[in-house]
Amino acid sequence: MYYIGIDIGGTNLKAGLVDENYCITATRKQPLQFTSMEQMGETLAKMAIDLVEENNITRDQVASVGMGFPGPVNDKQGVVIKTVNIPIRFMPVAEMFHRFWDGVPVHLGNDADCAALGEFYHYEDKNIESLILVTLGTGIGTGIILNGRIHTGINGCAGEGGHIVLVHNGEQCTCGRKGCWERYASANALIRQTIAVMDQNKDSIIWGIVGGDLSRVDGRTAFEAMHQGDAPARAVIDQYLRYLGDGLSNFINIFQPEVIALGGGVSQARDEDLLLPLQSIVLEDCFGREADRHTRLVKAKLGNDAGIIGAALLGLQARDR
Ligand SMILES: [Zn+2]
Repeated sequence: MYYIGIDIGGTNLKAGLVDENYCITATRKQPLQFTSMEQMGETLAKMAIDLVEENNITRDQVASVGMGFPGPVNDKQGVVIKTVNIPIRFMPVAEMFHRFWDGVPVHLGNDADCAALGEFYHYEDKNIESLILVTLGTGIGTGIILNGRIHTGINGCAGEGGHIVLVHNGEQCTCGRKGCWERYASANALIRQTIAVMDQNKDSIIWGIVGGDLSRVDGRTAFEAMHQGDAPARAVIDQYLRYLGDGLSNFINIFQPEVIALGGGVSQARDEDLLLPLQSIVLEDCFGREADRHTRLVKAKLGNDAGIIGAALLGLQARDR
């Protein structure tokens, strides 16, 4: 059997055929061209149908189709409540899909939740029941898996860990609050912090690394300068690790998950620069520090494929519901 997963992003639609080992065997990608919700429903159905036809399998071999949207969904009703960057409001996706391919179970998820589910099924220890994925990007995306299932909350809006307040009355966030975690610990936050320290330290090595061009500062720049012995860069990273560690400790204190996986470009930093110092910060700070078991802090494995794989496996999660 196969599972189909579709990852709906702000600019692209990516669909994949996922096998029983939870691996992608074929993909399709196309730019998102949104004209209406009707047209969108048809496009999504056709992508799934094309994936079946191109790979010489039959519709009967597809156990379910799952879709990850950038926003809250109601999986039971088959409705996407709203999305960020695409004008979708209360779209009955499952019903629209079934006009083109009737009978196949259709499941909906939030994209960050789907990515977490993908990491959950791909985690080396198949006996775990809880995992939280924290993706450091433009913001911070989080997905919470508890008892082997996505924790959606009563309205699909749970797991928005980027918007827990870390600094009272702090930096303005896009969500409307001030001082959210993602304003301090996302990849974009690290870039802003790097630029701020450059402004204050005109002799920092960082200037040379980016050739004096602030637009070339990325999530790796401060790490690179720190390795060359730059004190301002080390200060940026130390501070950044504190922000990141504070949020992670908050999560651990509430959920005590078996695993927290870190994703996004910043998570690819060397272990001695990111993962190891974070592990000690978190162990020092978390309430359960004397307990005999601790949350394992690891790097996410799947990268950009997590969204497709997790969306596809929404059906697996739902099967024993
Ligand atoms: Zn926020």
